[in-house]
Amino acid sequence: QRERRLSVEEWLRKWSTGATGFHKEHGHPLLQKHLDILLNGRSGLRIFFPLCGKAVDMKWLADMGHSVVGVDVSEQALKEFFADRGLPYCEEPVPGISGAKKLQSTSGNICLYCCSIYDLSSAIVGKFDAVWDRGALVAVNPCDRQRYVSLMSSLMEKNSSYLLVTVLYDPNKHKGPPFYVPESEVKSLFG
Ligand code: SAH
Repeated sequence: QRERRLSVEEWLRKWSTGATGFHKEHGHPLLQKHLDILLNGRSGLRIFFPLCGKAVDMKWLADMGHSVVGVDVSEQALKEFFADRGLPYCEEPVPGISGAKKLQSTSGNICLYCCSIYDLSSAIVGKFDAVWDRGALVAVNPCDRQRYVSLMSSLMEKNSSYLLVTVLYDPNKHKGPPFYVPESEVKSLFG
């Protein structure tokens, strides 16, 4: 898997052809199980969903009073998120990122950026108190992992918490989903 990479076009094609088996219609059980660790007794957090797709957990956390920010290259995914949840939103360009769009719920507490995550910086999106990383680090091309983790570190407030979901399997037997990230690598990436 090391040398394999998925292009933005391939991700967009997954969305347009409905090859989105990674999307779950129900909230993620591990987020529910470990929510206390993510929140750590705090309320009104800014929570980041890198490579968010149309994860239903974004609304779940927003409904609790948190402010949710997501990013995905697929405009279709982001629009489907709002449509599926019945949430009105408005759309505007993002100063500083050409071609990017910001889709914000009318209620104001869900803000989704349509661009590559590598276009973001704390100057544009600010910093976060918490990160939910499911289907994100494991979807990053192996050659970009270090860059991804450096960016994530730069987007985190001092006392922020980060929940990461990875999948244990034999990468020689299975092709995905979509890239294998062994625990030793998680440790060396995040320190
Ligand atoms: N986290 C979501 C989606 C996981 S699939 C969930 O759990 O359901 C990975 C997502 O990353 C896809 O929606 C894909 O469109 C998006 N993606 C891939 N490369 C990206 C990049 N460089 N920047 C932003 N989004 C990207």
